[in-house]
Amino acid sequence: MVVFPKQSHSPSPQSTMPETTPPIIGLTGGIGSGKSAVAAILRDLGCFVSNADELARASFQDDAIKAQIVSWWGDAVLDPQGEIDRSKVATIVFADPDQRVRLEQLTHPWIESQRQEAFTNAPAGVRALVIDAPLLVEAGIDEQCDAIIFVDTERNIRLSRVTTDRGWDDDKLQQREDSQLSLDVKRKRADYRVSNNGAHNDLLEQVHPILNQIAPLVES
Ligand code: ATP
Repeated sequence: MVVFPKQSHSPSPQSTMPETTPPIIGLTGGIGSGKSAVAAILRDLGCFVSNADELARASFQDDAIKAQIVSWWGDAVLDPQGEIDRSKVATIVFADPDQRVRLEQLTHPWIESQRQEAFTNAPAGVRALVIDAPLLVEAGIDEQCDAIIFVDTERNIRLSRVTTDRGWDDDKLQQREDSQLSLDVKRKRADYRVSNNGAHNDLLEQVHPILNQIAPLVES
């Protein structure tokens, strides 16, 4: 496991960030629980969000990472355009934990450096910096966070949502879930919990007061 130490996000001389650095909020929860939905709400409320899935996708376009992946698993992981086919890589790594660890050790440092850079260059006045990362706790990214929110969503609702939006079945959800830490461990690691078994608006009503506690608005 690669553990990334908490880093200062003090503004660089060129940075547009204010003197006081915004808190870092980490999101955790089950697969399809709605972490990205919470991240979107936080963004609407004035936070800056780093999405690990987007960065993971971008990491596959990095020349060195791409070359390493092809040297491990061959041209069979490339799509007709010559790009890394994420679904083919996923098939390999979710069938073999050693391969998954190998891939994570390759991509996580790249993802982490991109996130640090994005946070350092975040626009001035953001209320908080948010890390939306499925492996927040597993990868030790939780150590960087000032507050962690657990998104709690019943399994049957998560299954129905990932079936609708990703075409997954129960086995696929279970296989992905088995590769992560248990929900109990993630829940205990969190400082706040939101329930996402209902409508988006219910989520907003829970997230808003939590953000006000973590990053109170200052009267100017
Ligand atoms: P992952 O673990 O894969 O990163 P996630 O926890 O980020 O997933 P989302 O992508 O936010 O989960 O949500 C999963 C799906 O459920 C998405 O299609 C999203 O639009 C939908 N969804 C999330 N919250 C709600 C809600 N309250 N009502 C209806 N659909 C929702």
